[in-house]
Formats: sequence, C-alpha cells, structure tokens
Amino acid sequence: MMKRAQIVEPLKPLLITEISIPKPPQNGAVIKTCFSGICHSDLNQWRNYIDQGEFKKHFTDNPNYVLPIVPGHEISGVVYSLGEASAENIKVGDRVVVYPWIGCGTCGYCVNDNTPLCDRRHHGVGIGAPGGYATYVQVPDTKFVVKVPDSVPLNVACMLPCSGLTTFSAVKVAKVAVEKTTLYKGKASLLVIGSGGLGLWCLQLARSLLPPTTKIVAADINEKSLKVASEQGFECIHWNLEMTKEEASKMAASKSYDGSYDCVIDVVNSSWTAEKAFGCSHRGSTIVMVGLFGGAFKLPLPQMVHGARTLQGVLTGVLPDLRELVQLVEKKSLTPPPIIYFSLDDAYEGMCRLNEGKLQGRGIIKYDG
Ligand SMILES: [Zn+2]
Ligand SMILES: [Zn+2]
Repeated sequence: MMKRAQIVEPLKPLLITEISIPKPPQNGAVIKTCFSGICHSDLNQWRNYIDQGEFKKHFTDNPNYVLPIVPGHEISGVVYSLGEASAENIKVGDRVVVYPWIGCGTCGYCVNDNTPLCDRRHHGVGIGAPGGYATYVQVPDTKFVVKVPDSVPLNVACMLPCSGLTTFSAVKVAKVAVEKTTLYKGKASLLVIGSGGLGLWCLQLARSLLPPTTKIVAADINEKSLKVASEQGFECIHWNLEMTKEEASKMAASKSYDGSYDCVIDVVNSSWTAEKAFGCSHRGSTIVMVGLFGGAFKLPLPQMVHGARTLQGVLTGVLPDLRELVQLVEKKSLTPPPIIYFSLDDAYEGMCRLNEGKLQGRGIIKYDG
C-alpha cells in the first residue's frame, strides 16, 4: 500500500488516503519518493486559480488543474519498479530525480525535448498526473528519470527539476545578456528579485555561470530571506511594500555600478515586483520573468522601444538542461537554500507557511525509510 495527499477542494486541508502501489507503465517506472519540494505552483493548484490582474483566471478549462490533484513536481527518490520496455540504463535502486514537465510526446516541441512549450502539456508529474505528495510516483517513460550522482544528496537533488531548473534557464538567458554587455562595458550587473527557494538557487547559479566581473545583487521584502543571501556573500537590498517604483529603483541603484541593472531576474513576478524590475532596468537591459506569483503591471511602451529592452518569460526548463544541471551541481559545490522539512501529514502546513511567506528557504516533504 502507499499513502498520498490530495487537493480535493480549493484552500482546504489535503486529504490523506491509502491506495495500492501503482504498476510501472510499459516504458516507465515507479519511484519510491524520498523527498518532494513544496513549490509555489502547488499553491496555485490549491487555490485553483492564478491571479492574472484585472480578472482572476480560474482553471476550470485547464486539465492540469482539475481536482482532485496529487501535487508535487520536485521529486527525488529511488527506482522501485520498472516497465518491461523501460530504458536499459535505469535500474531498480538507482537514485534519481523526475523530470516532471512531460508533454504529449508527439508534437514538434515534445519530439525535440522542448516539452514546456507543448500545448497539450497535461501529463506532467504533479501537474496533470499524480505527483510527489505520495510515497510512490508513477513516471510514464524512463526517459524522464534522471540519475543522481552519489555525491549529490537526494534532499538537494529534489529541488533541481523545478526551482533549480527554472532558475538555471533564467540564468542561461541572463548569461547571454550579461556577456553581451560585458563585451561593451567591460562588466555587467544583475539584480535578482526574490531571495527565497528560487532566488537563492538563482544567485548561486548566477555566481557560478556568469563572468566573474558581474555585479550580482539580491532584492527582497523579506529580511530573513535576505539574511541568508547576505551570509552567502551577496549584496542585498531590503525593499518594503510601501515603496514606489522610484524609491525602490533608487535604493537598488545604490548597489549597482552605474545606477541601474543590465539584467534583472524576477523570481517573484508579482504586479509589485514586475514594476520594480522594469524600474531598475535601463537601455539595452534584459528583464527575465520567472515567478508565477500572478498579477499584471502597466508597461510604458515607448521605453521598450527607446530603451531597446528585452522582456523574456521563462517557463521551467528542458530535459537536457536538467541533466546538465545535475552534473553542474556535482562539479561545483553550490550551496542549496536552507531546507525546512515536513512529513506528508504536515504537507498542508508547509503549503500554508509558504502561502504566508513564512518559509525562509525551501519547504520539503521528507519520507521515512
Ligand atoms: Zn515548481
Ligand atoms: Zn507535445
């Protein structure tokens, strides 16, 4: 038997049930879950809507959000059983993470490993199909099972398929912008808005992948989160929600080398932060939008053209990049965000604390045995 937690009704506690352990699909596997991250996207499922500013978009027509849902798309564990036609390089007992962003498998995006762009992406683990808020998880194809080197602990590895991969994709976009600016100015500056679970990965990856001349600064309204970034050696800006765009960008400017930023990565991406991200940019800047907090903001259109700014949205990341990220974490000893553990029975409490902004780091469900 296995145990799992489901979202049955919006904003209500999770329902814990026991069911039989699933059989592995023909090409796939069943993973015994060791750790499962609690992501902000789980909160969107739990609320059953995402705030889109002027109107609240309900997920009634989105197959990924039809309740009940077993959330959890940041999964690490060991291979428990394998289908008859599973890949030969994956064995029972292997330490693995699950790539959850699975698409239809047949469209042009899917056959070229760009599943996040699949229009029919509703087979994702923890997104359409049952996810990691369960002691066992079914994965449809072993292609989406990525082995974890012995030197990378599974509690760290579980964060890689979403918070790690998403920020890795954002830093890859930033890298192009930063390297171009460095060519012209000899150096560049990056502002990372948000220093929680995603922001701390983003800062670590930026430090590891961007030219060493890059000035990297973290901004947040949460002083406790900033303290962690500061302890990791990053310069920090403590904003507060009362600040106007001008006040926030003036404060941010004091830490930059030329008054604003060549690149801004917004891992929160709320109405409030997106406006500030734009305010901290200048001619030629790239603004990378990552978070799914929700909302909308007014965009001064001439400043896009006169300022030749780039506004780029980043949606998770592709399977080859998860493999690359796992290797990168093995080679470079990146400091993971602080981890706050919850049992499966307490997963709801973890979601509530994330919702209230009271998790300094990543909330992770830890399974026994
Ligand atoms: Zn996520
Ligand atoms: Zn597809």
